[in-house]
Amino acid sequence: MPEGMIIKALSGYYYVRPDEGGDPVQCRARGIFKKRGVSPLVGDRVKFSETENGEGIVDEILPRSTELVRPPVANVDLAVLVFSVVHPDLNLLLLDKFLVHTESAGLDALIVFTKFDAADGEPDRERIVESVEAARQLYESIGYGSLVTSARRGEGIEELKRRLSGRISVFAGQSGVGKSSLLNALVPGLKLETSEISKKLGRGRHTTRHVELVPLPGGGYVADTPGFSQLDFAELGVGEIGSCFREFRELAEGCKFRGCTHVHEPGCAVLAAKERGEIAESRYANYLEFMTEWKENRRRY
Ligand code: GDP
Ligand code: ZN
Repeated sequence: MPEGMIIKALSGYYYVRPDEGGDPVQCRARGIFKKRGVSPLVGDRVKFSETENGEGIVDEILPRSTELVRPPVANVDLAVLVFSVVHPDLNLLLLDKFLVHTESAGLDALIVFTKFDAADGEPDRERIVESVEAARQLYESIGYGSLVTSARRGEGIEELKRRLSGRISVFAGQSGVGKSSLLNALVPGLKLETSEISKKLGRGRHTTRHVELVPLPGGGYVADTPGFSQLDFAELGVGEIGSCFREFRELAEGCKFRGCTHVHEPGCAVLAAKERGEIAESRYANYLEFMTEWKENRRRY
């Protein structure tokens, strides 16, 4: 039975790109999925059979490595976290928040700094360039890849293509940081609406549409809808936030108490490392902020 990947789902149809190549096959799903309460997702690897009318049937969904809710995509392996260096300014609290969510979803993350060209026009250019460099050093030291780009000048686009090659990626980031511009630069002919265009047309973007995986010229796929649009900690357990800080994970094994929250406990290995300056101040401060937010969330429900 041929295998392939669902690249689009629309009105009860699944578009399956066969592994051996060729055009996507428009498929219905077997009734058994509905009975079992599972539905095929974009990104799913499937076995399918072709019917006489040139359409097909999804017969089996192969096991998923990851499963995202927003956007609903299976088997994503990389989150591209997009942050502009100006307009809007770099926001490390938000970056750490995204990282908690990507870690919790089991995704690797690549941090992409955008609009580097725009720094040139700023009176405090030096400071901006230094803060980007400092952020890159910090996150690379924790184990995250990072890149500096300018969609306008075409900087960093080839390198980004290389990093996305062979993976299924989803872009995430505040509105206005340049996600659509970056995707348009990566995929010739994609023509996603950027905010300038939606302003001209007098409408908000992201009207209800369906997620689609776009094949990249260098191999790999990217979702055409940004991810992690809703960032709260409601679905996380209390210990989980700490384990989503990569540099805390190994240290936490040395904490005196099981279930240590790394806030005030004696014999806490994370606090000790922070005192020795081995954990960045900003990371620890953001951790405390998230723990407080988490507690407030709990109280509300
Ligand atoms: P999104 O909301 O994250 O998809 O961001 P958009 O791609 O719509 O971009 C938001 C705004 O930033 C638009 O006005 C873009 O023209 C601008 N922009 C995007 N990329 C760049 C860039 O590399 N350099 C500069 N100077 N502006 C950019
Ligand atoms: Zn601890």
